[in-house]
Amino acid sequence: MDILALRPVPAAAVLMAITRRCPLRCGHCSTGSLPGSEEHPGEIFQRFAGTFTPADRPELVMLTGGEPLLRPRLARSLAETAARSGTRTMILSGMFFAPRIPASIAGAIEAADHFSASLDAFHEEEVPRKSVFAVMRALLARGKDLSFHLTGSGPDDPYLRDVTAEIRREFHDRIPMLVGRVRPVGRARAGAPALLPAPAAGNAATVTGSGVAPALPCVMAAWPTVGFDGTITACCNQDVVDHRPVPGHLRLGHAGADDWSTVRERCLTSGTLRALRTYGPLRLAGAPPGRGYCETCRELEVTPPPHTPAAAFLERRVRDMQLAGGGVGFAGRYGCPPYGDLVSLGHPGRKHDL
Ligand code: SF4
Repeated sequence: MDILALRPVPAAAVLMAITRRCPLRCGHCSTGSLPGSEEHPGEIFQRFAGTFTPADRPELVMLTGGEPLLRPRLARSLAETAARSGTRTMILSGMFFAPRIPASIAGAIEAADHFSASLDAFHEEEVPRKSVFAVMRALLARGKDLSFHLTGSGPDDPYLRDVTAEIRREFHDRIPMLVGRVRPVGRARAGAPALLPAPAAGNAATVTGSGVAPALPCVMAAWPTVGFDGTITACCNQDVVDHRPVPGHLRLGHAGADDWSTVRERCLTSGTLRALRTYGPLRLAGAPPGRGYCETCRELEVTPPPHTPAAAFLERRVRDMQLAGGGVGFAGRYGCPPYGDLVSLGHPGRKHDL
């Protein structure tokens, strides 16, 4: 809930995909990861984390992959480096090691502030649910701050009903869950059509009665993402992270050459990114009906609107509205709506029982 409350805040966090490799072969994998997928020297990521300072740092580093715990020493070192400047670290894992926790992986998890386990029907074909629960039980007993990342086909998916109910029972409502939907990227694009949700309304380019493309602000253009090769993009959209060259307006730099302060500055001051966060790509491009949301953004070639006092006012208003919803509001809008409140489980600020 606290992490998601930061999601609309530009440069509040940075995602680092420290390897594309993964020993699992989940059918919906958004990164198309395999055991022999690309992996680049850890020094690139280490160097970038080393440029955080107590006065200029992200609040959070999220280590992802692929499977970040295939590089447990790097994950641990990044968490320790980040902590020296006051930045907290979260690790998201597919739990290939469950039900055991090898010593090197235990060290990485220990060094991080938050640990999240991915769980869904595809993962369960690779790692049994009871093995994942065994690891989470052990970590909970050690006082670790935990969460689950769950995915399914949508609000009516019986798998989501079953797994959320079992997690609540098993862990007595102490572990929050972020429930999302399988997206048509990576292996899911070709391999899991039955589980893909219908296209989200927010991603369809409709026109308003006035014939103007709608303003649908992009909240994802807020957290810089360090890709597998160290290239830093303005968002975590997998097509943006994967394709080269990165469109100029979505490229923030490279972890091997740029420091955090430069990347943060670019994220905050880019006219195009500010306009994407305020109006979204469809309005910015004046897109005709039927154009895809991120597709329009990747092909954007427009001069951003001038930064007038009115534009600055609108930017603040959009941000304030997004922040007002907090972590639960974000999970409801961008995850799987009926399950949005599950991100507040175990949180002292949780308003009511479900
Ligand atoms: S609209 Fe652009 S910035 Fe936003 S997620 Fe899509 S590609 Fe990224």
